[in-house]
Amino acid sequence: MPDGDAAPQQLFDRFHRWLRERHLPITRQRDMVARAVFAGGEHLSVVGIQRRLREQGLRVGTATVYRSLDVLLESGLVRANDFGEGFKRFEALLSPGQHGHLICSRCGRVTEFSTERFERLLPMVADEQGFQHQTHRVEIRGLCRVCREADAGAVQHAGTIF
Ligand SMILES: [Zn+2]
Ligand SMILES: [Zn+2]
Repeated sequence: MPDGDAAPQQLFDRFHRWLRERHLPITRQRDMVARAVFAGGEHLSVVGIQRRLREQGLRVGTATVYRSLDVLLESGLVRANDFGEGFKRFEALLSPGQHGHLICSRCGRVTEFSTERFERLLPMVADEQGFQHQTHRVEIRGLCRVCREADAGAVQHAGTIF
């Protein structure tokens, strides 16, 4: 979750530090991809990243986006999500805390929520099954507020037509 405007810049600085520590080159194109992913609390696909860059008048080839994402994932500053759409969505890990996702099955909108309430519960559930908990993901699928309101509006609208 974005924590003021400083967060993307902080991630960017951490990314550069990480690259320097590993003697990896800092390239302009990799920086552009990193900035696009770090910029907002969004869950962008590769196509979404390219669209965002295009909006800024920047052009980065698909192969370069993939290669840059590999490096970003390795740095641990970016996470890949598979929401079962046939492609991955990438997000910057702005906060150390875990979060879950609400995924709209109609418009694909992804909303985050705090999983704080589950953080103690889920390892306990695993433990009850004799399972050693390592990680977990919380995903809820359904209709987002915008789509539900559109539905409600359509129903209301239909009701006023005589
Ligand atoms: Zn929706
Ligand atoms: Zn997320």
